[in-house]
Amino acid sequence: MQSSVATKKFQRWLGSYGNGQKGPLVICIGGIHGNEPAGAIALQNVLRQLNETKPAFAGRLLALAGNVKALNEGVRYFHHDLNRMWLPARVRSQPKVETAEDAEQQELLTIISDALTQQQTGVIFLDLHTTSSSGAPFALISDTLLNRRFALQLRTPLILGLEESIEGTILNYINDLGHAAIGFEAGQHESPQSIKNHEAAVWITLVEAGCLIPEQVPDLSAHRQTLMEASRNLPSVFEIRYRHAIQASDQFVMKAGFTNFYPVKKAAPVAADCRGEVQVKEAGYLFMPLYQKLGEDGFFLVREVKPFWLGVSAWLRRLGADRLLHWLPGVAYLPTDKNSLVINTRIARWFVIEICHLLGFRKHAQVGDQLIISRRRQSSWGRNQDV
Ligand SMILES: [Zn+2]
Repeated sequence: MQSSVATKKFQRWLGSYGNGQKGPLVICIGGIHGNEPAGAIALQNVLRQLNETKPAFAGRLLALAGNVKALNEGVRYFHHDLNRMWLPARVRSQPKVETAEDAEQQELLTIISDALTQQQTGVIFLDLHTTSSSGAPFALISDTLLNRRFALQLRTPLILGLEESIEGTILNYINDLGHAAIGFEAGQHESPQSIKNHEAAVWITLVEAGCLIPEQVPDLSAHRQTLMEASRNLPSVFEIRYRHAIQASDQFVMKAGFTNFYPVKKAAPVAADCRGEVQVKEAGYLFMPLYQKLGEDGFFLVREVKPFWLGVSAWLRRLGADRLLHWLPGVAYLPTDKNSLVINTRIARWFVIEICHLLGFRKHAQVGDQLIISRRRQSSWGRNQDV
């Protein structure tokens, strides 16, 4: 696949599909990292099939290539990681176009903003990636109930909490605008299976969003089977426990042989850097071990979240229990922002982050004993379906 990818030329518009019927807007991006063409190829394949079979379609599918120039050169990026440039303050400030990635971001932003101006509810964003290590595909979300609903339909492991470790992703940017946003990692960059997994994720999402009825996707059960088999024997939900941040001067090298969701014991040696051996701090599953040169995340550590707790948290949020948090000792609203709480961790000591996660908050900053958490922006899916 690698040689065919290197010669393949991508354009920003991979295509769109819809036949004028009202319905959801599904925005898909493939290749926001230029060394991950599988998502863009999968979107081309899905569009080809749609255009050949011309099924009735509620709403519109909009498919975009991410870092077009980098995709066409087969590199991850030239100057900046295009998936770390979406901090709201940076986007609002409309920075000058100085690098290749500035130009890519401006173009994407214009197209996405125009599409969102035309349609403000019933929007779902699907961001397609691959990883340098091999292993099962998985979905990534900011933990809102609507995101959960779509991501769990993919039947691959679901990862919660990545937005607390990585800032400036396009997924978070669109989520914080109030839309459903799912990241999907299909497998290893060069594996042909990754393209198939991406296609499966797009078809399933189009059905779950209500754009297509199941009967119009002849391979739907095969697509579901593909993703279920790829993640067999793995827990269905994980949360991020640790991110091993790296920079070039660390000379970080992952030890060979690790895959996504590789189980590790406490203090297991997993990598080396200029200071010596790198060990994991607690038992769990290794997640996204880095086997490529460019990147700022050496590896992550995740642990299983029992489905029971997902049920409890959905129930508590529907009851509005999140509005009672500030009654607890050591917890108060941030005076400037009613969606943020400041917690004195000397007073509120036990399971603070766990409780906040259950109730739909994310860790924002920690300054000494003061932990600031913010309510995740809840997504809207049109009338009577807000969650
Ligand atoms: Zn990526």
